[in-house]
Amino acid sequence: MLENLNSFLEENKRDIFSFIENSRRPISLDYDNNIFEKLLRHLVTGFPVCHCSPQQQTHAEFDKVHYELTVATLEIFWCGCLTQMKENRQAYYSGTTDIFRQILIDTFDAGKRYAPMEERRRQNEQTRTPNSE
Ligand SMILES: [Zn+2]
Repeated sequence: MLENLNSFLEENKRDIFSFIENSRRPISLDYDNNIFEKLLRHLVTGFPVCHCSPQQQTHAEFDKVHYELTVATLEIFWCGCLTQMKENRQAYYSGTTDIFRQILIDTFDAGKRYAPMEERRRQNEQTRTPNSE
């Protein structure tokens, strides 16, 4: 059923990356200590990033990667639980949960493989427009 996903990712890798890279979702930390904010703060503390120059070792600054990782972690957890519940109830055929799991792992690996291409694309863009960031 989903065997064509890898070629879909391959054909659309640039669009997929820019879709998330350019997404400007409203980021508000007024979440009233719900699970999104709790995980986000956990990731900011556990994976400290500093944007200062020079970098400060004591800084743990909020970064887009924390936000996207929080979204992905929560979504993936939900996908694992919901799919397994449906499979246990025989609403999904046996093995569906493992297929979904493999899709998520393969998707992550497809993103990893795209990294050198995206890096090259950015370098080409910078040499064409030297005044951009
Ligand atoms: Zn800093």
